[in-house]
Amino acid sequence: MDIEVRVRETIEKYGLMKKSERIVVALSGGKDSTSVLYILKKLGYDVHGLMIDLYLGEWSEIHKKNMTKFCEGNDIPLMVVDLKKEIGQGICFVKAVLAKKKGLTGCTVCGVIKKWVLNKWARKMGADVIVTGHNLDDEAQNVLMNYLKGNVALGKGMGPATGGERREARGEKLNFVQRVKPLFFVPEAEVLRYAKNKGFDILYDRCPCALGTYRVDTRGWMREAMGDEDKRKIVDGFMEAVKGMKAGDERVARECVECGEVSRDEVCSFCKIVGCV
Ligand code: SF4
Ligand code: ZN
Repeated sequence: MDIEVRVRETIEKYGLMKKSERIVVALSGGKDSTSVLYILKKLGYDVHGLMIDLYLGEWSEIHKKNMTKFCEGNDIPLMVVDLKKEIGQGICFVKAVLAKKKGLTGCTVCGVIKKWVLNKWARKMGADVIVTGHNLDDEAQNVLMNYLKGNVALGKGMGPATGGERREARGEKLNFVQRVKPLFFVPEAEVLRYAKNKGFDILYDRCPCALGTYRVDTRGWMREAMGDEDKRKIVDGFMEAVKGMKAGDERVARECVECGEVSRDEVCSFCKIVGCV
């Protein structure tokens, strides 16, 4: 199925966004977020780009330049948030300190920090939803990684709308901007084909810091062993199973006592991490 049609259908089926809403797209500068931004603009949504300068050397510089040009060319407002101004350090330093002090490696630290910054800035920008570029491969990898870690429940909130449905439907009114994933059912290979066919002038390399992580290993063997239909079965099967699991989640979303952002515990993951640096 055509990727633009699939995105439209996912938005409609899961009620991800409305034309009257302000849609903030989290931009990494890669093929997924660039493609979803382009498609949503084409479908007539009020899209705004939001990018974090992580200070990953030349890689970040090129992404910033590319996204500035892309957004100017497509008449899309862009906000670039400087991580050093937000937390006093670039991501490499934070990752190095936490690897030493807490043994935290891979993308966990970066993921927590990015989520916190995106939520804060999307709210400042008046966003109704934050769009991320996660695709079917990312989601199937998440399910498998959680199995391999022996903690399937970690994926409980998985779905095109994080949490299973938009927060209004869940009655939650926190400092939390709803996250949605219009590419949820689109295989990575299709996104890549789309971006290349459109001739997007972007970097197609992976983040230099992602090397040697658990996700990279999972992605590698999944690519060897599975087709797109298998990935879809993994994701559909998990979402079915998750329905029964939700009732068991005792923790209610609340505000972090230190920063006021949304949290499942008294102190949010971001404050726990940044407090160590
Ligand atoms: Fe951060 Fe990992 Fe993504 Fe690189 S791949 S930007 S380190 S989360
Ligand atoms: Zn906090």
